[in-house]
Parts: sequence; C-alpha cells; structure tokens
Amino acid sequence: MKAQPPASHFIDGEYVEDIDGAAFDSLYPATGEVIARLHAATPAIVEKAIAAAKRAQPEWAAMSPTARGRILKRAADIMRERNRELSELETLDTGKPIQETIVADPTSGADAFEFFGGVAASALNGDYIPLGQDFAFTKRVPLGVCVGIGAWNYPQQIACWKGAPALICGNAMVFKPSENTPLGALKIAEILIEAGLPKGLYNVIQGDRSTGPLLVNHKDVAKVSLTGSVETGKKVAGAAASNLKHVTMELGGKSPLIVFDDADLESAIGGAMLGNFYSTGQVCSNGTRVFVQRGIKDKFLKRLKERTEKIVIGDPMDEATQFGPIVSKAQLDKVFSYIEKGKAEGATLLTGGGIPNSVSSAGNYIQPTVFADVTDDMTICREEIFGPVMCVLDFDSEDEVVARANATEFGLSAGVFTSDLTRGHRVADALEAGTLWINAYNLAPVEVPFGGSKQSGFGRENSVAALNHYSELKSVYVAMGKVDSPY
Ligand code: NAD
Repeated sequence: MKAQPPASHFIDGEYVEDIDGAAFDSLYPATGEVIARLHAATPAIVEKAIAAAKRAQPEWAAMSPTARGRILKRAADIMRERNRELSELETLDTGKPIQETIVADPTSGADAFEFFGGVAASALNGDYIPLGQDFAFTKRVPLGVCVGIGAWNYPQQIACWKGAPALICGNAMVFKPSENTPLGALKIAEILIEAGLPKGLYNVIQGDRSTGPLLVNHKDVAKVSLTGSVETGKKVAGAAASNLKHVTMELGGKSPLIVFDDADLESAIGGAMLGNFYSTGQVCSNGTRVFVQRGIKDKFLKRLKERTEKIVIGDPMDEATQFGPIVSKAQLDKVFSYIEKGKAEGATLLTGGGIPNSVSSAGNYIQPTVFADVTDDMTICREEIFGPVMCVLDFDSEDEVVARANATEFGLSAGVFTSDLTRGHRVADALEAGTLWINAYNLAPVEVPFGGSKQSGFGRENSVAALNHYSELKSVYVAMGKVDSPY
C-alpha cells in the first residue's frame, strides 16, 4: 500500500499498534485505491497517549521558551526540506492537487512552527505591576495536556496550527486527525521527534466520532481545540463544559463575499473562484455567498463562467491539475444532493453540477459549480455545503447587502471587493465575522489571528493571540511590609 505507516498511532516517541481497535482503510480520493489500513484507538491507546503526555509535560514546561522554540524552528526546517514528500502524502491523504499542497500545506504548518518558535523568547513574558511599596507580577503558565481534533481539509496544517502554540506554551498534545485523512499528522509527530522534541509531548491517535469523546471527557485533559462542523462543535463544547475544560472552536461557515460595481472585475472574480474552488471547495472560510451589485451582474457572470470552465480538473499528482476530487464518497454525495436542491428551489445553474469527463470514475470528482439568481431563503444559500458550489446573489445598495450578509448564524469570514477603500473599511466593520478581507480572499498568514464569531466558533489560531488559548496567567502579589490586619 502506497502510504502505509509503520502503525496507526504515534505515542511517546514511537509508532504503536493495537489491533483490537476497529480496522479502517484510508482511500486515495482520486482513485478509491486503499493506501493504508489502520486501527482506531482503543480505550487502552487513549490512556497510553494521555499518560505519556501527562508524564512528559512538566519537564518540558520547565525549559526556557527559547529552548522550546529552537526545537520548533528545527521542525519547521525539516518540514521545508521534505516539502515534496509531505505534499505528496497530503495529496494522497486528501486528494488535493499537488500544485496546491506544495505551496499551502506543509509550508503553512512549517510557518506555524517557525512563528511560534520565534516568538517564544519574547511573547511568553509576564507583567510587573507596581502597587506602592508592594507589587505584583504575572506569569504565563501552560494548561497541561491539550487535545487537538482535526477536520479533513487541511490535515497537516491543522496538526501544526494546534501543535505549535500548544507546545511553545509548555503543554503536551494528543492529536486526533479526521478518520478521512489519518496520515499527515503521524509524519508531523515523527518530524518533531527528529527535531529534538522530548518523547510524549506530541502524540497522534486515530479514530472517529466515537473516539473523540474518550479524549474530550478524559479527566487529565485541560483543553480541547476542535476544527470541525458546528454540529460537532456543540457536542464537544458541551462535553468539555461538564468539567470546565478550556476550548477553542474552529467551526464551519457560510461566508459572504461582496462585490461592488466599482471593483476590479478580474480580481473580484479571481477572489470568488479562490474562495469557492481552492481545495475543491473544502475550506471553512470560503465565501460561498457571492453578492454581486446589479450593475455588473451580467459581465461578472459571463467572465466567471468562462474562467470556471477553464479550470484544469484531473490527476492530483499531475502538476498541471488545478482541481482534484472531494475527500470521500459520502461528502461527494452530500454535495450532489445540495446541487439537486439548488435546482429544485429555482436557482440558475450557470456551470458545472455534474461529473467531469476524463477522470477516474472511481474518484470522488465533481465539476466546479456556480448557481446564479440565488435568493437568501434557498437551502444552498443557508447551509454549509463544504464543496465547490458557489452561490451568486444580486444586490442594489450597501445597507441592503450588509444586512443580508449578516443574516446567518455563522460568522467565520467575509470579504469585500471595491475600489473605494473608505467603503471597504466601512463594510468590513459592519460585517459580523472573525476574519475579513478587503480586495482579497482566503489568505491566512500565520501572523494574523484566524477564527470565527457567532456559531462559527471562538478562540483564535495563529498570531500571538493563540498563546492566550494555550496558557493562563498566574498573578503573584508580593507584600514588602508587615501585614496590616484589624484582628
Ligand atoms: P466533523 O465535525 O465531522 O469532524 C471533525 C472532527 O471531529 C473529526 O476528527 C471527527 O472524528 C471528530 N468528531 C466528530 N464527532 C465528535 C465528537 N462527538 N467528539 C469529539 N470528536 C468528534 O467535520 P469534518 O467533516 O471533518 O470537517 C468539515 C467541517 O470542519 C466543516 O464544517 C468546516 O467548515 C469545518 N472546518 C473549520 C475550520 C476552521 O478553522 N474554522 C477549518 C477546517 C474545517
């Protein structure tokens, strides 16, 4: 098998197997070929991983942030040296084209190790608080054992975006990748050991929705960071609340992308395509509700159709391929069912909607799809599809479009294209979302906080803001005189 790891789990610095766990296959989404055969974690594996993390964490927390940072930066270097190998694995795991994974997956994971490794020496300081003759100071202390649970669209990036801030703050991590994409995180764990991370600090266990709760409910776990759907987020946050664990929730969205009639048309179309078709549409922050001002609607749709129909669909390992398959058959069926609903509810199918020619019929392929004349009440406009389905809506005025863009329970991201920067800022201010773009879409550099508002989640990944979610402040009051007591 093309991508069989030595064993299913990586615990305490080595690969570990327990064949009592339910067996499952990892399939290459482009062909349906079995590329690895794995076992889900048994309760014994979960215990072993959490015990290793708990044992290793205090010594790691006692090291200086600079020393911890040095190891993370080394891991970043190794990831960059092995970018091709890691990108090929990511392509096998997810089906995303190598053209994307080579620039966006291991590299963004490496960015996280590099960034958090670099800020360690300066960003983990406390404050000195003068109080007359007395004073207080604060220390930033780790939480302990943190659990990361990943989605299937960016497996290596998610493993690093959670691992890097957790480790730099002095925590240990147990990471569970999605059952659809189990392979990338194991490599990240291997690389961290090679970079010098002490054993037990970054463990990976496999499993699905029945395994997750074993981690979330465990008494020795201090924090859970989930990337997943809103539905899963509610379950995980609810379970974590029962013993008041810290949580970060990176959940789904149905984000608006607003194109005013003064926008640079080709840039706006490019942004809309990136925000709907990159990673075959499987991106949480995608701008799937594209509001186009009525004056440019016809021109916008004409060019969008032309450009969409030129997208190169094919073998993800071919560097010329721009668009690969959906991660799983189940997700493909879900996307097709939304396309049927779009047609039934009266949206105009501008392009796509079917299976592309000249691809393996065993792969989970679908054409990039655009619906025009979509209205706010249609199912395809209200629910997250998580596939390459763009909904184009018309609007007349700024006030109208802001109100309609905000009329959703989600609040992950939003974008605005306009050549009037004052309007760009005004609209960005008015939109209810955690991450916004003006004249761009879906850029998420590690320096910038990333996360959602409303039901798209809470907490932030990336940037120094993430340190707040993997550490807490300890305040120490120091009295310099005698105790002034009335008793
Ligand atoms: P999902 O919610 O089905 O699963 C996410 C992870 O949670 C998986 O590892 C799964 O095994 C685990 N899980 C499921 N039920 C659980 C439970 N009860 N307890 C603990 N763990 C459980 O999501 P998915 O289908 O893998 O990913 C797609 C979703 O993720 C979309 O909604 C997408 O928007 C979202 N997403 C969000 C972000 C972000 O940063 N905001 C990034 C990527 C994906």
